[in-house]
Amino acid sequence: MASIFTRIIAGEIPGACVLQTERWVAILDINPVAPGHTLLIPRQEVALLPDLEGATLAESGAWLARIDRALRSITDCDAVSILLRDGPAAGQEVPHLHWHLVPRFNGDHPHHFVGGSYASDDQQEQMRSAIAAALDQQ
Ligand code: AMP
Repeated sequence: MASIFTRIIAGEIPGACVLQTERWVAILDINPVAPGHTLLIPRQEVALLPDLEGATLAESGAWLARIDRALRSITDCDAVSILLRDGPAAGQEVPHLHWHLVPRFNGDHPHHFVGGSYASDDQQEQMRSAIAAALDQQ
């Protein structure tokens, strides 16, 4: 059965998409640790990093850096947490590879990683379009 991320990528269920390329998609996390919490997801549905096809893997660092830059410019955050749970024992719940990128501010607890609802639908849509525009401009 297709993963929830594959179903979002296919347009079968809604997702707050900030980036779509030949090999990659990024969406806002539905249960963000902080406003702007973004997931970078390969279109290729693999659970684990070692199984990612080479050309896709080669692009991953560049997309992480671009999203990191976009989050800094849109949220004015002081730092960005980047997390990959590469397997269930590491806490991976969705078995489709994805990096979390979470804006962080001075005074935040850096190890806090509990999702919540920090924004209305309107605020989430404003965040989505601002990040998408910042990525477009890079
Ligand atoms: P992980 O525990 O690393 O597998 O993280 C899975 C993440 O996917 C969690 O942060 C969820 O909030 C997020 N998530 C689950 N379903 C959706 C969805 N439909 N749209 C966006 N994010 C989702």
